[in-house]
Amino acid sequence: MKKSLRERVTGFFINMGRQNKWLRIPAIAGLAVSLWVFRLIEYFRRGTKRFACTIFILLCFMVGNSFAYPVFQEDNGFMAKADKAETVSVTEESDITLANEEKIEIDSLEILEDEDVLEGYDDAELHGMDEADKYSLSEILEENRNGEWKQEEPEEEPEKSEPEFSADDWRLVLINKQHPIPDDYSFTLGSIKTIKGTMKCDERIIDDLLSMMQKASDDGVALAICSPYRDLNYQAVLFNRKIEAYMKKGMSYMDAYTISSQAVTVPGASEHQIGLAIDIVSDDYVTLDEGFSDTDAGRWLAEHSCEYGFILRYPKGKEYITSIEFEPWHFRYVGRDAATIIMKEGITLEEFWDKYL
Ligand SMILES: [Zn+2]
Repeated sequence: MKKSLRERVTGFFINMGRQNKWLRIPAIAGLAVSLWVFRLIEYFRRGTKRFACTIFILLCFMVGNSFAYPVFQEDNGFMAKADKAETVSVTEESDITLANEEKIEIDSLEILEDEDVLEGYDDAELHGMDEADKYSLSEILEENRNGEWKQEEPEEEPEKSEPEFSADDWRLVLINKQHPIPDDYSFTLGSIKTIKGTMKCDERIIDDLLSMMQKASDDGVALAICSPYRDLNYQAVLFNRKIEAYMKKGMSYMDAYTISSQAVTVPGASEHQIGLAIDIVSDDYVTLDEGFSDTDAGRWLAEHSCEYGFILRYPKGKEYITSIEFEPWHFRYVGRDAATIIMKEGITLEEFWDKYL
């Protein structure tokens, strides 16, 4: 009768143990292992169906769970690719901020201008803002014909070797998101009479401002001043309205806040509140948008404003420093020496502080 595999293997170990007493122990071990293996095989053979079911269930479970992993989420559109990229190690706090800010794709959004959010509200709320908030030189001169302001020829200053700058100079005060207006900052609000009423800004910049407008007018460029001084309330209302408007478009509060703070300065951080910033347009181009930089007035200002102490405060390509979009209409008074350096070197006020103060 033919022996089974099991009998042959066990027989082999038994014989081995009998023939040589030194091989007895390995033979017993081999016998035990082989018996155990055969028993295991028998066990699986009997319960094939049961084990097949268990393995199948385990497999389904693993496949189902694997869709929770980022790599599958991305392929299925549950998660944007960009989010995955951001999980790469973030070492510094500043990196975190940048990554968060980049999440919003501003290009794909309609940027809301001040006018957009001002529409449809009762503007009694906007204390301190004139209804017709745009003043051309002719309107100013008309009112001041016999008035206080006469154009003075800009004095030829004696050649100075190297202008010195002081961090305490009121003209150089740095106001941005990181540097809000100091609590003890004070200045005198001056008024320029116009036909429509009075226009306010820091009284110390009025002469230079009007001289600049006069010179532009002599060069055939009709500048118009638009929204000069704004008090904190106005700035806050404008800011909140932008957030509201973005939230109506389905954005979260945080996203709306981030994008609003790029388009309008955060309340408390606007140069308009200290009367040193002026939005300037021209008689024939009144919208505050990038297109202004391509107009005669925009070009004239970019070239000559520094001669009167004004700088283009938010230049193109420096958004990463100012955190404000390019605003070819927003001019800031810093005094002639600083303005000349800033415009000549093509830097921002922030960079000027780094370098000269
Ligand atoms: Zn402005």
